[in-house]
Amino acid sequence: MRIHRLLAAAAALSLAGPAMAQDHGVGHETAPAAHGPGWSYSGPNGPEYWARLDAAFATCAAGQQESPIDLSDAISADLGPLDLQWRRLPARVFDTGHAIQVEISPGSNLTMGKKGYQLLQFHVHQPSEHLLNGHRYPLEIHFVHTAPDGTLGVVGVFAEPGANNPALQTVLAAAATAGEADDRPTLDLTALLPEQRDYFRYEGSLTTPPCSETVDWAVLATPITVSEAQIEAFSRLHPGNTRPLQPLNRRFLLRSGR
Ligand SMILES: [Zn+2]
Repeated sequence: MRIHRLLAAAAALSLAGPAMAQDHGVGHETAPAAHGPGWSYSGPNGPEYWARLDAAFATCAAGQQESPIDLSDAISADLGPLDLQWRRLPARVFDTGHAIQVEISPGSNLTMGKKGYQLLQFHVHQPSEHLLNGHRYPLEIHFVHTAPDGTLGVVGVFAEPGANNPALQTVLAAAATAGEADDRPTLDLTALLPEQRDYFRYEGSLTTPPCSETVDWAVLATPITVSEAQIEAFSRLHPGNTRPLQPLNRRFLLRSGR
C-alpha cells in the first residue's frame, strides 16, 4: 500500500518535473517563495513542514532524489575534470532572507560531462549541508549554474577553519553595506576553489523549497580555508541555514579521480 502511494507520487512528480524546473529552477534554493507562506529552517515553517506550506512544495516530502546527502560510499568513476571557465566579473551581493547571495554577471561557464552551464550566483550555508564521510564543515558555498534545458549544475565547496579567504572577505564587506551603496565588487571566484578539484557527482534537488529534483550536483572533495572570524561573521548573518540530510535511496554517488 505504502509502496503504491510512493509510485503514484513518483509518477506525478515526473509529469510535473519540467514545468517546475521552468517556474523555480533559476532562482535556486535561496529565492524567496513566489507565493504561499514563508518557509524557514526551524519552528512551524521548518524543513519537516515545508511540503505542507504550499502545494508547490510537495516534492520536499515526496521526493526520492533529494539533497543534501552524506557523501560516503562513493563509486570511483572516470568522470573527467570539472571544466570551470569562471571570469573576473562584477558581482552583486545581497541578502535573500535565507542566505547571503552573490549574483554574477553573465560570462562564466561550467562544463560537466558533455553539458554546458552558465554561472548565475553563489550563496553560503552555515554549517555545511552535505557531509563528507559523516563530517559536517562550518561553511558550504553553492555555485549555481543553469543549463539551456532548465536543469541546474551546482558546484558545492566546503570551507574549514584556517587562513583568511580574501574573496570571501570582499563578499562579507559588500554584505555589510548591501542596500546602501550600489557596490558591485569584482570577485576572483577561483579564490573560492581548492587547487585539488576531485569531486562527488550525483543527481539531486534544490535544498530549499520547492525542492525540485533538477540539480546535477558536483561537490568538491577538498575544502578551502576561511578564517574563524569569517565563519563567525556568517554565523551572525544566517546561522543554521542548512536542510537536514536526505536519504540516498536508489541513486549512485560517484567520485572522480582514482
Ligand atoms: Zn544552497
